[in-house]
Amino acid sequence: MSTRRKFLQASVISSAAVLTGRQVLADTATLPIPVINNPVVISTWDFGKAANAGAWTILGKGGRALDAVEAGVKIPEADPTNQSIGYGGLPDRDGHVTLDACIMDEQYNCGSVMALEHIVHAISVARLVMEKTPHIVLAGDGALQFALANGFKKENLLTPESERAWKKWLKTAKYDPVINVENQLYNKENDPMPGGPNNHDTIGMVAMDAGGNLSGACTTSGMAYKIHGRVGDSPIIGAGLYVDNEIGAATSTGVGEEVIRIVGSHLVVELMRQGHSPEAACKEAVQRIIKRSPEKSKKIQVGFLALNKKGEYGAYALQKGFTYAVKSGKEESVYASKSIY
Ligand code: ASP
Repeated sequence: MSTRRKFLQASVISSAAVLTGRQVLADTATLPIPVINNPVVISTWDFGKAANAGAWTILGKGGRALDAVEAGVKIPEADPTNQSIGYGGLPDRDGHVTLDACIMDEQYNCGSVMALEHIVHAISVARLVMEKTPHIVLAGDGALQFALANGFKKENLLTPESERAWKKWLKTAKYDPVINVENQLYNKENDPMPGGPNNHDTIGMVAMDAGGNLSGACTTSGMAYKIHGRVGDSPIIGAGLYVDNEIGAATSTGVGEEVIRIVGSHLVVELMRQGHSPEAACKEAVQRIIKRSPEKSKKIQVGFLALNKKGEYGAYALQKGFTYAVKSGKEESVYASKSIY
């Protein structure tokens, strides 16, 4: 019997007390899972609000965090107006929309797809890799073949808007990740940055369900106009996403190369294990990026978002402008993250 379970049963026997953030609902030690937590879901950027609402249709009914995060991130994946995720994502420099995604549950099960083309819901393919194969990662053509063999539909993910942006970009063909709107004084009239103000972003989502279990999902079309075949942090377990059901979960957004270098999301979870709050852990990870790449860090955006087992959450970013969305039984909010610069 796990220490956690012993502890829970002992608590039930002694009294029907209210533990920190948890109500003990059972009155005998023999009933299974005698604890109800307050479910919560958090996700990156303001478009995380709609994604959280999708997750909440499952979490709010006592559903599993894993199902909730998959359902949640499918919303921006299917949204053609979101040019950094799924359908409508900005392409690589050769005009291919290539998607990166991963998912992780409360038992260290995880699945990932890298540089996947033609499938809207990369996250669901990642989940299938986790559940139906002996592997964790499938990439490129192999990931596509696997998806098609499992009934996913082949689609053209390049919308006319994203194709137009790419063709405009081809005139200069300069690879230039943009920080975010607030920090770039973006001027739509002059359009100094072909491809728009947000030429990269990701939905990273982590959640805790009523059973107190954590899961996470992360999905993106990655950096616009990247070299064909480039893979970012988002589908890399430990970099773009990490879940440790004893401690907490974290996810990231921003220039993936810098997140991979420090294995960012795993670092955030390990810092929480050492006692840092979610916000302090995210801040420390951001500072690690500055230490590794002091000059570069001034010109790029990276943001981390974390949730611990008590349901506390926090974020930190290099630059101003990173936002994150929170949904629980008590709130539905979008917060501006603190930042170093
Ligand atoms: N992390 C993503 C990547 O590097 C992009 C982003 O979240 O802005 O592909």
